Amino acid sequence: MNDYFTLPDKGMTSEDILALLEQCKKSDAKWQNGRMFGYVYSPETKAVELMTKVNELYLFENALNTSLFPSIAQGEIQIVSIAARLLNGDASVAGSVTSGGTESILLAMKACREYIHKQKPTLKDPEVILPWSVHPAFHKAAQLLGIKAILLPLQNDYRADCNALVRLINEKTILIVGSAPSYSHGVVDPIEEMGKIALERNLFFHVDSCLGGFFLPFMEKLDYKIPLFDFRIPGVTSISADMHKFGYGAKGASVILYRTKELWRSQFFVHCDWPGGLFGCTTFLGSRSGAPIMDALAMLMFHGMEGYMALTNKTMKAVEKLKSGICAIEGLSIVGEPVMCVLAFSSSKKDIYLIGDELHNRGWYIDRIMYPEALHLIITNPNLENTDRFLTDLQQCVKAVRHNTLKRVSAGVGIKLGKKLMTAFPGKTSKLLGLKASGSVDTKQSTGGKSSASFYGIASSIENKTNLNDIVLNYLERTHTAK
Ligand SMILES: *Cc1c(COP(=O)(O)O)cnc(C)c1O
Repeated sequence: MNDYFTLPDKGMTSEDILALLEQCKKSDAKWQNGRMFGYVYSPETKAVELMTKVNELYLFENALNTSLFPSIAQGEIQIVSIAARLLNGDASVAGSVTSGGTESILLAMKACREYIHKQKPTLKDPEVILPWSVHPAFHKAAQLLGIKAILLPLQNDYRADCNALVRLINEKTILIVGSAPSYSHGVVDPIEEMGKIALERNLFFHVDSCLGGFFLPFMEKLDYKIPLFDFRIPGVTSISADMHKFGYGAKGASVILYRTKELWRSQFFVHCDWPGGLFGCTTFLGSRSGAPIMDALAMLMFHGMEGYMALTNKTMKAVEKLKSGICAIEGLSIVGEPVMCVLAFSSSKKDIYLIGDELHNRGWYIDRIMYPEALHLIITNPNLENTDRFLTDLQQCVKAVRHNTLKRVSAGVGIKLGKKLMTAFPGKTSKLLGLKASGSVDTKQSTGGKSSASFYGIASSIENKTNLNDIVLNYLERTHTAK
């Protein structure tokens, strides 16, 4: 029997391979049933059919050399131009299509670093100021680029604290960052105020609108009150916006926009001193598929302003229903003031992760956040028909948990438990964290036999996050190693 970890001696038939994949895929999450929040941003069937055809057209085309494939270069220019207009940029705004938010963010930071380096070659150890709530991609980029990340605390409303920002700026600061909105709480940082500070101090200012870039503009057109977050704020120098989120494109497409061409050019990479000819890239990747780029363009064309507005409208109607439904359940409340369809909710009874476990048992895939302890929803197209079911289930989960009189693990006990769990690693890491989707670990705390204390409850009470890093590293290794 082939174990599939070695190259088969003889090739398999297409039928056998497809049958095998279908078999393997049975363990994947069934997002199509609308019970998964986030991760998958899938448009309606007709749009999906279109993307499947576009994928076929561009399966092998390489966007690295756009002189060979000018249609992709053209597609990229169209996407950038459409995004720039949506985000109220003028004719001087320039940018690129990248493989995702992470690459857009990496490039924005690289562009700033290069630009500043040309102007102030003596500046050593540059710093970027990052609100505590920014996406980890900024920390990844800072690590890769050798830029020091300075953490900016949040206000009580989970938005970046501008007073602290002013205090943290020094002569090494090259860039400040705000989110519109943040992943964790779905709130928009005080972009207008931050923009003023950036202008005054002559700093670059990146707005991470990976989630909001293709959603907030349509909300604004639908007359929702949205704080300004785009190029209308003079201090904003770059914006990232993901096509593969609310642009409803296939995975592998995001847009990075800059206020000026000069800043955009600082993102490019050129190397001519090797035997292989002149080499230049606008983005981070070398060879790259044309398919996600052209999928993204197809989605913009397919939906148009009207289509996106209709989708946004439908989504926000569902969000409003979910919000009021959640608040109507005793003890539950929305965290902060989320502006779009990204939000977290917590429980005054301190049992929110247990509620999350119960939801998981009923087939819902829902993320946890650690500060504050809360469950996290990104409401996308597949969820829209499911709001009533979600609220009914949520109500039942809350009841089930409260009947359970399960004692909440105190912070002290949590740390002890956490340490115990860690000494049990690495052997059990993947088993324990394999339950991440349920956010839970069986700690034998249960009174009824099947309820469990939350791994996340423990995780959020551990002060020393380096221990947590080890747990996650072990998890990554184990889940990416053949068993
Ligand atoms: C998703 C996301 C990112 C990172 O984007 P990827 O496409 O996952 O690389 C950055 N910022 C925010 C706010 C996001 O939601």
